[in-house]
Amino acid sequence: MGAEPIIRLVDVRKTYRMGAVKVEALRGVTLTVGPGEFTAIMGPSGSGKSTLLNILGCLDRPTAGEYYLRGRAVAGLNDDALAAVRNRELGFVFQTFNLLPRMTALRNVEQPMLYAGVPAAERRRRALEALERVGLADRARHRPSELSGGQRQRVAIARALVNGPAVILADEPTGNLDSRTGEEIMALFERLNAGGATIIVVTHEPDIAAHARRVIVVRDGRVVEDRPSTGGAARLAGGPPPAGVGGP
Ligand code: ADP
Repeated sequence: MGAEPIIRLVDVRKTYRMGAVKVEALRGVTLTVGPGEFTAIMGPSGSGKSTLLNILGCLDRPTAGEYYLRGRAVAGLNDDALAAVRNRELGFVFQTFNLLPRMTALRNVEQPMLYAGVPAAERRRRALEALERVGLADRARHRPSELSGGQRQRVAIARALVNGPAVILADEPTGNLDSRTGEEIMALFERLNAGGATIIVVTHEPDIAAHARRVIVVRDGRVVEDRPSTGGAARLAGGPPPAGVGGP
């Protein structure tokens, strides 16, 4: 384990206060994610997955504890600094794709580079390259309404990749897709991971988590399990997925 971790959480706690009531959403989460890992975060509803993902994604701050992203302490940064970290270091993929409906796939993928101030010609080149990586170069001029759900999610993944993030965070990325399309999206994540991408996927579906190499289970705000997955890596090495995976 020579490489510097991408993510290091140390005793992270998150307490929501609603009037007099305190909700302890995270009760001391310590975990490390190394470069090139593909991790699924699982757990029942209300266990703290979204809270954890919001903190990992620098969308929220822990109440207590430390968060190091590529060695940099980010738990205490102000909103502007956090926004910069999100743009530079993190790629987000959402259940509902979150594409801009009036813009082409190409423009959608260019968005994160606009904020990063990348010149137009380079934006276009890198956006096309990202669309190629997800197999959608031939749909660059299409708007989201002209794409299938799976294609929309691939555009969103291209957008997540385009700034070369330290980690891709995906929140139930297959939740709005039929099971076959969901499997295709997870196969794409497996290929990107095989190419070196660090990926964290939040899901409540074991079939989806099986594509990852590592599974972290959260319950009542704590990590209760952290184990290698029996799925993804082995299957990728062994050829096509077994028949019936995720099928109806
Ligand atoms: P999951 O994503 O696993 O369903 P969450 O992280 O959304 O779990 O929620 C963990 C706990 O924190 C739950 O008890 C939830 O009700 C509570 N919670 C989440 N967000 C808030 C909030 N903004 N204000 C108050 N309580 C919250």
